[in-house]
Amino acid sequence: MKSVWTAGTEIRERESLPGDMEAEAVVIGAGLAGILTAYYLKQAGIEAVVLEADRIGSGQTKNTTAKITSQHNLIYDHLIRTFGARMAGQYANANQNAIEEYERLVREKHIECDFTRAPAFLYSVTHRAILLKETEAARRLGIEASFGTDCELPFPIEGAMKFENQAKFHPLKFLSRMSEEVTVYERTKALKVEEDLIETDKGCVRARCIVFASHFPFINIPGYYFARMYQERSYIAAFQDAEDLEGMYLGIDRDGLSFRSFGETLLIGGGSHRTGVNRQGGQYEMLKHRASAWYPGCRETAHWSAQDCMTPDGIPYIGRFSGRKQDWYVATGFGKWGMTSSMVSAHILTALITGQNCPETEIFSPRRKFTAGAAGKLAVHGAHSVKGLTEHMLPAGQGRVIPNCSHMGCRLKWNPEEESYDCPCHGSRFDRDGNLIDGPAQMDLRRK
Ligand SMILES: Cc1cc2nc3c(=O)[nH]c(=O)nc-3n(C[C@H](O)[C@H](O)[C@H](O)COP(=O)(O)OP(=O)(O)OC[C@H]3O[C@@H](n4cnc5c(N)ncnc54)[C@H](O)[C@@H]3O)c2cc1C
Repeated sequence: MKSVWTAGTEIRERESLPGDMEAEAVVIGAGLAGILTAYYLKQAGIEAVVLEADRIGSGQTKNTTAKITSQHNLIYDHLIRTFGARMAGQYANANQNAIEEYERLVREKHIECDFTRAPAFLYSVTHRAILLKETEAARRLGIEASFGTDCELPFPIEGAMKFENQAKFHPLKFLSRMSEEVTVYERTKALKVEEDLIETDKGCVRARCIVFASHFPFINIPGYYFARMYQERSYIAAFQDAEDLEGMYLGIDRDGLSFRSFGETLLIGGGSHRTGVNRQGGQYEMLKHRASAWYPGCRETAHWSAQDCMTPDGIPYIGRFSGRKQDWYVATGFGKWGMTSSMVSAHILTALITGQNCPETEIFSPRRKFTAGAAGKLAVHGAHSVKGLTEHMLPAGQGRVIPNCSHMGCRLKWNPEEESYDCPCHGSRFDRDGNLIDGPAQMDLRRK
Protein backbone atom coordinates (compact mmCIF):
# COMPACT_ATOMS: atom_id res chain seq x y z
CA MET A 1 0.00 0.00 0.00
CA LYS A 2 1.19 3.55 -0.73
CA SER A 3 2.05 6.05 2.00
CA VAL A 4 -0.09 9.14 2.59
CA TRP A 5 2.72 11.16 1.00
CA THR A 6 2.92 9.15 -2.22
CA ALA A 7 -0.82 9.09 -2.78
CA GLY A 8 -1.60 12.40 -4.44
CA THR A 9 1.95 13.74 -5.05
CA GLU A 10 3.25 13.79 -8.61
CA ILE A 11 6.93 14.61 -8.96
CA ARG A 12 7.86 15.79 -12.46
CA GLU A 13 9.61 13.05 -14.43
CA ARG A 14 13.20 13.65 -15.57
CA GLU A 15 15.08 12.15 -18.48
CA SER A 16 17.73 9.48 -18.01
CA LEU A 17 21.43 10.25 -18.43
CA PRO A 18 21.72 11.02 -22.16
CA GLY A 19 25.21 9.47 -22.50
CA ASP A 20 28.76 9.92 -21.24
CA MET A 21 29.50 13.27 -19.58
CA GLU A 22 31.74 15.17 -17.17
CA ALA A 23 30.52 16.97 -14.05
CA GLU A 24 32.05 18.91 -11.21
CA ALA A 25 30.23 16.75 -8.65
CA VAL A 26 27.94 13.74 -8.82
CA VAL A 27 25.43 12.86 -6.12
CA ILE A 28 24.19 9.26 -6.24
CA GLY A 29 20.57 9.05 -4.99
CA ALA A 30 17.67 11.50 -5.23
CA GLY A 31 16.19 11.10 -1.75
CA LEU A 32 16.11 13.96 0.71
CA ALA A 33 19.85 13.64 1.48
CA GLY A 34 20.89 13.66 -2.18
CA ILE A 35 18.65 16.50 -3.35
CA LEU A 36 19.56 18.78 -0.42
CA THR A 37 23.28 18.08 -0.87
CA ALA A 38 23.11 18.89 -4.59
CA TYR A 39 21.17 22.08 -3.81
CA TYR A 40 23.67 23.40 -1.24
CA LEU A 41 26.62 22.47 -3.47
CA LYS A 42 25.03 24.57 -6.21
CA GLN A 43 24.56 27.45 -3.77
CA ALA A 44 28.29 27.18 -3.04
CA GLY A 45 29.11 27.40 -6.75
CA ILE A 46 29.54 23.69 -7.49
CA GLU A 47 27.25 22.30 -10.17
CA ALA A 48 26.24 18.81 -9.10
CA VAL A 49 24.45 16.19 -11.17
CA VAL A 50 22.16 13.78 -9.31
CA LEU A 51 21.89 10.19 -10.59
CA GLU A 52 18.79 8.31 -9.43
CA ALA A 53 18.24 4.58 -10.09
CA ASP A 54 14.45 4.95 -10.02
CA ARG A 55 12.41 8.15 -9.49
CA ILE A 56 13.05 11.18 -7.25
CA GLY A 57 11.89 10.33 -3.72
CA SER A 58 11.27 6.68 -4.53
CA GLY A 59 13.48 5.39 -1.68
CA GLN A 60 12.79 5.59 2.05
CA THR A 61 11.92 9.30 1.89
CA LYS A 62 8.47 8.49 0.49
CA ASN A 63 7.66 6.31 3.52
CA THR A 64 8.87 8.39 6.46
CA THR A 65 6.72 9.99 9.18
CA ALA A 66 8.46 13.31 8.44
CA LYS A 67 8.94 14.73 11.92
CA ILE A 68 11.64 17.39 11.68
CA THR A 69 13.20 17.24 15.10
CA SER A 70 16.43 17.13 17.05
CA GLN A 71 14.70 14.78 19.51
CA HIS A 72 16.25 11.57 18.27
CA ASN A 73 14.98 9.12 20.84
CA LEU A 74 17.25 8.86 23.93
CA ILE A 75 20.54 10.31 22.69
CA TYR A 76 21.83 13.36 24.52
CA ASP A 77 22.70 11.77 27.87
CA HIS A 78 24.44 8.96 25.95
CA LEU A 79 26.34 11.46 23.76
CA ILE A 80 27.54 13.55 26.71
CA ARG A 81 28.73 10.45 28.59
CA THR A 82 30.42 8.98 25.52
CA PHE A 83 31.85 11.97 23.66
CA GLY A 84 31.70 14.81 26.20
CA ALA A 85 29.52 17.92 26.21
CA ARG A 86 31.47 19.70 23.46
CA MET A 87 30.90 17.01 20.82
CA ALA A 88 27.37 16.24 22.06
CA GLY A 89 26.71 19.95 21.53
CA GLN A 90 27.81 19.63 17.90
CA TYR A 91 25.11 17.00 17.38
CA ALA A 92 22.44 19.07 19.11
CA ASN A 93 23.35 22.30 17.27
CA ALA A 94 23.56 20.68 13.87
CA ASN A 95 20.07 19.18 14.23
CA GLN A 96 18.50 22.27 15.81
CA ASN A 97 19.98 24.40 13.01
CA ALA A 98 18.55 21.97 10.47
CA ILE A 99 15.01 22.74 11.70
CA GLU A 100 15.63 26.47 11.32
CA GLU A 101 17.08 25.96 7.85
CA TYR A 102 13.99 24.02 6.72
CA GLU A 103 11.81 26.91 7.81
CA ARG A 104 14.06 29.44 6.10
CA LEU A 105 13.94 27.50 2.81
CA VAL A 106 10.19 26.96 2.97
CA ARG A 107 9.62 30.69 3.52
CA GLU A 108 12.20 31.89 0.99
CA LYS A 109 10.88 29.66 -1.80
CA HIS A 110 7.22 29.73 -0.74
CA ILE A 111 7.15 25.93 -0.66
CA GLU A 112 3.67 24.58 -0.01
CA CYS A 113 4.55 21.49 1.99
CA ASP A 114 2.41 21.80 5.14
CA PHE A 115 5.45 22.86 7.17
CA THR A 116 4.19 23.40 10.73
CA ARG A 117 5.98 24.01 13.99
CA ALA A 118 5.00 21.50 16.71
CA PRO A 119 6.44 20.24 19.97
CA ALA A 120 8.05 16.80 20.07
CA PHE A 121 7.66 14.43 23.02
CA LEU A 122 9.45 11.28 24.17
CA TYR A 123 7.07 9.41 26.44
CA SER A 124 7.18 6.38 28.71
CA VAL A 125 4.62 4.43 30.68
CA THR A 126 7.31 3.17 33.10
CA HIS A 127 10.64 5.02 32.81
CA ARG A 128 10.31 8.39 34.49
CA ALA A 129 13.93 8.58 35.73
CA ILE A 130 15.45 7.99 32.27
CA LEU A 131 13.38 10.78 30.78
CA LEU A 132 14.30 13.17 33.59
CA LYS A 133 17.98 12.46 32.94
CA GLU A 134 17.57 12.95 29.20
CA THR A 135 15.74 16.25 29.78
CA GLU A 136 18.61 17.48 31.91
CA ALA A 137 21.15 16.44 29.25
CA ALA A 138 19.23 18.19 26.46
CA ARG A 139 18.88 21.38 28.52
CA ARG A 140 22.63 21.31 29.25
CA LEU A 141 23.22 21.39 25.48
CA GLY A 142 20.97 24.41 25.04
CA ILE A 143 17.80 22.67 23.82
CA GLU A 144 14.50 24.06 25.12
CA ALA A 145 13.44 20.87 26.90
CA SER A 146 11.09 20.18 29.80
CA PHE A 147 9.60 17.21 31.62
CA GLY A 148 5.90 16.78 32.39
CA THR A 149 3.11 14.28 32.85
CA ASP A 150 0.28 16.00 30.95
CA CYS A 151 -0.18 14.84 27.39
CA GLU A 152 -2.70 14.26 24.62
CA LEU A 153 -2.07 10.51 24.33
CA PRO A 154 -5.06 8.26 24.94
CA PHE A 155 -3.41 6.28 27.78
CA PRO A 156 -1.71 7.19 31.08
CA ILE A 157 2.03 7.83 31.02
CA GLU A 158 4.74 8.13 33.68
CA GLY A 159 6.12 11.18 31.98
CA ALA A 160 7.20 12.84 28.76
CA MET A 161 10.15 14.99 27.69
CA LYS A 162 9.07 17.91 25.54
CA PHE A 163 11.19 19.77 22.96
CA GLU A 164 9.65 23.11 21.97
CA ASN A 165 9.45 24.47 18.45
CA GLN A 166 10.19 21.36 16.40
CA ALA A 167 8.41 20.83 13.05
CA LYS A 168 6.67 18.48 10.62
CA PHE A 169 5.94 18.64 6.90
CA HIS A 170 4.91 16.78 3.74
CA PRO A 171 8.25 15.30 2.64
CA LEU A 172 7.43 14.68 -1.00
CA LYS A 173 5.89 18.11 -1.64
CA PHE A 174 9.08 19.62 -0.21
CA LEU A 175 11.33 17.27 -2.18
CA SER A 176 9.41 17.84 -5.40
CA ARG A 177 9.94 21.60 -5.17
CA MET A 178 13.60 21.38 -4.13
CA SER A 179 14.38 18.92 -6.92
CA GLU A 180 13.43 21.68 -9.41
CA GLU A 181 16.56 23.52 -8.27
CA VAL A 182 19.03 20.82 -9.38
CA THR A 183 19.83 18.56 -12.34
CA VAL A 184 18.57 15.03 -11.81
CA TYR A 185 18.79 12.08 -14.17
CA GLU A 186 16.18 9.48 -13.27
CA ARG A 187 16.20 5.75 -14.07
CA THR A 188 20.00 5.95 -14.14
CA LYS A 189 21.59 3.41 -11.84
CA ALA A 190 25.21 3.76 -10.72
CA LEU A 191 26.69 0.30 -11.19
CA LYS A 192 30.36 0.79 -10.47
CA VAL A 193 32.51 3.59 -9.13
CA GLU A 194 36.25 3.72 -9.66
CA GLU A 195 38.26 6.78 -8.68
CA ASP A 196 36.50 9.67 -10.48
CA LEU A 197 34.43 7.52 -12.88
CA ILE A 198 30.85 6.42 -12.28
CA GLU A 199 29.61 3.71 -14.59
CA THR A 200 25.81 3.67 -14.93
CA ASP A 201 23.37 1.63 -17.00
CA LYS A 202 22.97 4.69 -19.27
CA GLY A 203 26.59 5.85 -19.67
CA CYS A 204 29.62 7.00 -17.68
CA VAL A 205 30.13 10.21 -15.72
CA ARG A 206 33.51 11.56 -14.69
CA ALA A 207 33.42 13.88 -11.67
CA ARG A 208 35.85 15.70 -9.39
CA CYS A 209 33.88 14.59 -6.33
CA ILE A 210 31.26 11.92 -5.71
CA VAL A 211 28.64 11.82 -2.96
CA PHE A 212 27.01 8.52 -2.01
CA ALA A 213 23.48 9.44 -0.89
CA SER A 214 22.00 6.10 -1.94
CA HIS A 215 20.69 5.30 1.55
CA PHE A 216 22.93 2.23 2.12
CA PRO A 217 26.23 2.65 0.17
CA PHE A 218 26.40 -0.11 -2.44
CA ILE A 219 30.21 -0.16 -2.68
CA ASN A 220 31.55 -2.68 -0.16
CA ILE A 221 35.28 -1.90 -0.25
CA PRO A 222 36.63 0.58 0.75
CA GLY A 223 34.37 1.97 3.47
CA TYR A 224 33.13 -1.40 4.78
CA TYR A 225 29.71 0.10 5.59
CA PHE A 226 28.15 -3.37 5.27
CA ALA A 227 30.11 -4.37 8.39
CA ARG A 228 29.30 -1.17 10.28
CA MET A 229 25.51 -0.86 9.85
CA TYR A 230 22.36 -2.93 9.76
CA GLN A 231 18.82 -1.97 8.74
CA GLU A 232 15.71 -1.79 10.86
CA ARG A 233 12.13 -1.90 9.52
CA SER A 234 9.13 -0.18 11.06
CA TYR A 235 5.45 -0.06 10.19
CA ILE A 236 3.08 2.88 9.93
CA ALA A 237 -0.72 3.02 9.69
CA ALA A 238 -2.91 6.06 8.95
CA PHE A 239 -6.27 6.53 10.70
CA GLN A 240 -9.26 8.81 10.09
CA ASP A 241 -11.69 9.70 12.89
CA ALA A 242 -8.97 9.20 15.51
CA GLU A 243 -7.66 12.42 17.08
CA ASP A 244 -5.84 15.50 15.88
CA LEU A 245 -2.69 15.66 18.04
CA GLU A 246 -0.83 18.94 18.31
CA GLY A 247 2.41 17.26 19.42
CA MET A 248 4.54 14.53 17.83
CA TYR A 249 5.22 11.56 20.09
CA LEU A 250 7.64 8.65 20.38
CA GLY A 251 7.56 5.98 23.08
CA ILE A 252 10.83 4.80 24.60
CA ASP A 253 9.38 1.58 26.06
CA ARG A 254 9.84 -1.76 24.32
CA ASP A 255 6.44 -1.57 22.61
CA GLY A 256 6.36 2.25 22.46
CA LEU A 257 4.79 3.81 19.36
CA SER A 258 5.17 6.92 17.23
CA PHE A 259 2.27 9.37 16.80
CA ARG A 260 1.96 12.33 14.48
CA SER A 261 -1.06 14.03 12.92
CA PHE A 262 -1.18 15.02 9.26
CA GLY A 263 -4.31 17.09 8.66
CA GLU A 264 -7.20 14.97 9.89
CA THR A 265 -5.16 11.79 9.64
CA LEU A 266 -3.31 10.31 12.59
CA LEU A 267 -0.17 8.32 11.75
CA ILE A 268 0.78 5.64 14.25
CA GLY A 269 4.06 3.76 13.80
CA GLY A 270 5.89 0.94 15.52
CA GLY A 271 6.70 -2.76 15.42
CA SER A 272 10.39 -2.18 14.65
CA HIS A 273 12.65 -5.14 14.03
CA ARG A 274 15.93 -5.87 12.32
CA THR A 275 15.20 -6.32 8.60
CA GLY A 276 14.99 -10.03 7.86
CA VAL A 277 13.81 -10.96 11.35
CA ASN A 278 9.99 -10.83 11.18
CA ARG A 279 8.91 -14.44 10.99
CA GLN A 280 5.67 -13.98 12.92
CA GLY A 281 4.43 -10.85 11.13
CA GLY A 282 1.36 -9.16 12.61
CA GLN A 283 2.76 -5.61 12.91
CA TYR A 284 -0.04 -3.91 10.95
CA GLU A 285 -2.63 -5.89 12.91
CA MET A 286 -1.01 -4.74 16.16
CA LEU A 287 -1.20 -1.07 15.07
CA LYS A 288 -4.84 -1.43 14.00
CA HIS A 289 -5.81 -3.26 17.15
CA ARG A 290 -4.25 -0.65 19.43
CA ALA A 291 -5.69 2.28 17.45
CA SER A 292 -9.21 0.79 17.63
CA ALA A 293 -8.90 0.32 21.39
CA TRP A 294 -7.78 3.92 21.93
CA TYR A 295 -9.95 5.60 19.29
CA PRO A 296 -13.16 3.54 18.93
CA GLY A 297 -14.69 4.08 15.51
CA CYS A 298 -11.42 5.13 13.82
CA ARG A 299 -10.81 3.86 10.26
CA GLU A 300 -7.50 2.73 8.81
CA THR A 301 -6.98 4.47 5.44
CA ALA A 302 -3.44 3.34 4.58
CA HIS A 303 -0.51 1.40 5.91
CA TRP A 304 3.08 1.06 4.75
CA SER A 305 6.55 0.36 6.05
CA ALA A 306 10.09 1.64 5.69
CA GLN A 307 13.59 0.88 6.88
CA ASP A 308 16.64 2.82 7.85
CA CYS A 309 20.34 2.21 8.45
CA MET A 310 21.41 1.90 12.07
CA THR A 311 24.96 2.59 13.27
CA PRO A 312 26.33 1.03 16.47
CA ASP A 313 26.68 4.34 18.33
CA GLY A 314 23.45 5.87 16.97
CA ILE A 315 25.21 8.66 15.05
CA PRO A 316 25.01 8.92 11.24
CA TYR A 317 28.08 8.55 9.03
CA ILE A 318 28.47 11.89 7.26
CA GLY A 319 31.80 12.86 5.72
CA ARG A 320 34.61 11.33 3.66
CA PHE A 321 33.67 7.85 2.44
CA SER A 322 37.06 6.35 3.32
CA GLY A 323 40.62 7.41 4.11
CA ARG A 324 41.59 5.86 0.77
CA LYS A 325 39.23 8.02 -1.32
CA GLN A 326 39.71 11.73 -0.66
CA ASP A 327 37.04 12.84 -3.14
CA TRP A 328 34.30 10.37 -2.22
CA TYR A 329 31.73 11.43 0.39
CA VAL A 330 28.89 9.64 2.16
CA ALA A 331 25.64 10.40 4.01
CA THR A 332 24.07 7.35 5.65
CA GLY A 333 23.15 5.67 8.95
CA PHE A 334 20.37 8.12 9.82
CA GLY A 335 18.79 5.77 12.40
CA LYS A 336 15.22 6.82 11.44
CA TRP A 337 16.03 10.52 11.83
CA GLY A 338 16.76 11.35 8.22
CA MET A 339 14.83 14.63 7.96
CA THR A 340 17.24 16.72 10.04
CA SER A 341 20.12 14.32 9.23
CA SER A 342 19.69 14.97 5.49
CA MET A 343 19.95 18.72 6.11
CA VAL A 344 22.97 18.16 8.37
CA SER A 345 24.56 16.02 5.62
CA ALA A 346 24.03 18.71 3.02
CA HIS A 347 25.64 21.27 5.31
CA ILE A 348 28.65 19.14 6.30
CA LEU A 349 29.37 17.71 2.85
CA THR A 350 29.15 21.12 1.19
CA ALA A 351 31.60 22.49 3.76
CA LEU A 352 34.03 19.59 3.25
CA ILE A 353 33.87 19.79 -0.55
CA THR A 354 34.35 23.55 -0.63
CA GLY A 355 37.03 23.56 2.10
CA GLN A 356 34.99 25.56 4.64
CA ASN A 357 35.37 25.21 8.38
CA CYS A 358 32.61 23.10 9.94
CA PRO A 359 32.97 21.95 13.56
CA GLU A 360 30.21 19.31 13.22
CA THR A 361 32.36 17.16 10.93
CA GLU A 362 33.98 15.68 14.03
CA ILE A 363 30.99 13.98 15.68
CA PHE A 364 29.53 12.72 12.37
CA SER A 365 32.82 11.54 10.89
CA PRO A 366 32.54 8.00 9.42
CA ARG A 367 36.03 7.42 10.79
CA ARG A 368 35.29 8.28 14.43
CA LYS A 369 36.43 5.75 17.06
CA PHE A 370 33.84 3.35 18.46
CA THR A 371 33.25 2.99 22.18
CA ALA A 372 33.19 -0.41 23.93
CA GLY A 373 29.36 -0.40 23.82
CA ALA A 374 29.32 0.28 20.09
CA ALA A 375 31.96 -2.40 19.50
CA GLY A 376 29.69 -4.90 21.29
CA LYS A 377 26.83 -4.02 18.95
CA LEU A 378 29.17 -4.42 15.99
CA ALA A 379 29.99 -7.95 17.19
CA VAL A 380 26.26 -8.84 17.33
CA HIS A 381 25.85 -7.45 13.81
CA GLY A 382 28.84 -9.51 12.66
CA ALA A 383 27.28 -12.67 14.13
CA HIS A 384 24.05 -12.05 12.15
CA SER A 385 26.09 -11.66 8.97
CA VAL A 386 28.13 -14.81 9.56
CA LYS A 387 24.91 -16.79 10.21
CA GLY A 388 23.30 -15.42 7.04
CA LEU A 389 26.38 -16.25 5.00
CA THR A 390 26.77 -19.80 6.34
CA GLU A 391 23.09 -20.56 5.61
CA HIS A 392 23.39 -19.79 1.92
CA MET A 393 24.08 -23.46 1.07
CA LEU A 394 20.79 -24.68 2.60
CA PRO A 395 18.10 -26.03 0.20
CA ALA A 396 16.37 -23.18 -1.63
CA GLY A 397 12.75 -24.04 -0.59
CA GLN A 398 9.53 -23.82 -2.62
CA GLY A 399 9.71 -20.32 -4.16
CA ARG A 400 10.49 -19.26 -7.73
CA VAL A 401 13.88 -17.77 -6.80
CA ILE A 402 17.14 -18.84 -5.19
CA PRO A 403 16.89 -16.94 -1.88
CA ASN A 404 20.53 -15.90 -1.62
CA CYS A 405 21.09 -12.15 -1.52
CA SER A 406 22.66 -10.64 -4.64
CA HIS A 407 24.70 -8.30 -2.40
CA MET A 408 26.96 -10.73 -0.50
CA GLY A 409 25.17 -14.06 -0.80
CA CYS A 410 23.46 -14.22 2.63
CA ARG A 411 20.42 -16.48 2.94
CA LEU A 412 17.25 -14.35 2.76
CA LYS A 413 14.27 -14.74 5.11
CA TRP A 414 10.66 -14.71 3.96
CA ASN A 415 8.71 -11.76 5.42
CA PRO A 416 5.02 -12.79 5.58
CA GLU A 417 3.93 -9.27 6.51
CA GLU A 418 5.07 -7.81 3.21
CA GLU A 419 5.56 -10.90 1.08
CA SER A 420 9.21 -10.15 0.47
CA TYR A 421 12.56 -11.88 0.83
CA ASP A 422 14.58 -9.84 3.35
CA CYS A 423 18.29 -10.05 4.17
CA PRO A 424 19.02 -10.31 7.92
CA CYS A 425 22.67 -9.32 7.32
CA HIS A 426 22.48 -5.96 5.54
CA GLY A 427 18.78 -5.35 4.91
CA SER A 428 18.36 -5.77 1.13
CA ARG A 429 14.84 -6.79 0.08
CA PHE A 430 13.29 -8.51 -2.95
CA ASP A 431 9.72 -9.27 -4.03
CA ARG A 432 8.29 -12.77 -4.50
CA ASP A 433 9.71 -12.87 -8.04
CA GLY A 434 13.16 -11.78 -6.93
CA ASN A 435 12.95 -8.17 -8.13
CA LEU A 436 15.07 -5.79 -6.03
CA ILE A 437 13.12 -3.54 -3.62
CA ASP A 438 15.77 -2.14 -1.24
CA GLY A 439 19.59 -2.04 -1.26
CA PRO A 440 22.47 -2.29 -0.61
CA ALA A 441 21.97 -5.10 -3.19
CA GLN A 442 21.78 -3.66 -6.69
CA MET A 443 20.72 -6.76 -8.68
CA ASP A 444 17.60 -8.96 -8.75
CA LEU A 445 17.73 -12.53 -7.39
CA ARG A 446 18.58 -15.52 -9.54
CA ARG A 447 15.50 -17.46 -10.66
CA LYS A 448 15.34 -21.28 -10.39
C1 LIG B 1 9.26 3.96 9.67
C2 LIG B 1 10.19 5.12 9.55
C3 LIG B 1 9.78 6.37 9.95
C4 LIG B 1 10.64 7.46 9.86
N1 LIG B 1 10.24 8.67 10.31
C5 LIG B 1 11.12 9.68 10.36
C6 LIG B 1 10.76 10.94 10.94
O1 LIG B 1 9.64 11.12 11.41
N2 LIG B 1 11.69 11.91 10.96
C7 LIG B 1 12.95 11.71 10.49
O2 LIG B 1 13.78 12.61 10.61
N3 LIG B 1 13.31 10.57 9.86
C8 LIG B 1 12.42 9.55 9.80
N4 LIG B 1 12.77 8.38 9.22
C9 LIG B 1 14.06 8.26 8.51
C10 LIG B 1 14.01 8.88 7.12
O3 LIG B 1 12.82 8.53 6.46
C11 LIG B 1 15.22 8.39 6.28
O4 LIG B 1 16.38 8.47 7.05
C12 LIG B 1 15.42 9.24 5.04
O5 LIG B 1 14.23 9.27 4.29
C13 LIG B 1 16.55 8.70 4.20
O6 LIG B 1 16.74 9.55 3.10
P1 LIG B 1 17.91 9.25 2.04
O7 LIG B 1 17.89 10.35 1.07
O8 LIG B 1 19.15 8.96 2.79
O9 LIG B 1 17.48 7.84 1.41
P2 LIG B 1 16.40 7.49 0.30
O10 LIG B 1 15.19 8.33 0.41
O11 LIG B 1 16.21 6.01 0.37
O12 LIG B 1 17.12 7.88 -1.06
C14 LIG B 1 18.17 7.12 -1.61
C15 LIG B 1 17.97 7.09 -3.13
O13 LIG B 1 19.12 6.49 -3.72
C16 LIG B 1 18.70 5.76 -4.85
N5 LIG B 1 19.73 4.78 -5.19
C17 LIG B 1 20.10 3.67 -4.51
N6 LIG B 1 21.09 3.01 -5.15
C18 LIG B 1 21.36 3.74 -6.28
C19 LIG B 1 22.27 3.58 -7.35
N7 LIG B 1 23.08 2.53 -7.42
N8 LIG B 1 22.28 4.51 -8.33
C20 LIG B 1 21.44 5.58 -8.29
N9 LIG B 1 20.54 5.76 -7.29
C21 LIG B 1 20.51 4.87 -6.29
C22 LIG B 1 17.38 5.13 -4.39
O14 LIG B 1 16.57 4.75 -5.50
C23 LIG B 1 16.76 6.25 -3.56
O15 LIG B 1 15.88 7.05 -4.30
C24 LIG B 1 11.94 7.28 9.31
C25 LIG B 1 12.35 6.03 8.88
C26 LIG B 1 11.50 4.95 9.02
C27 LIG B 1 11.99 3.60 8.62
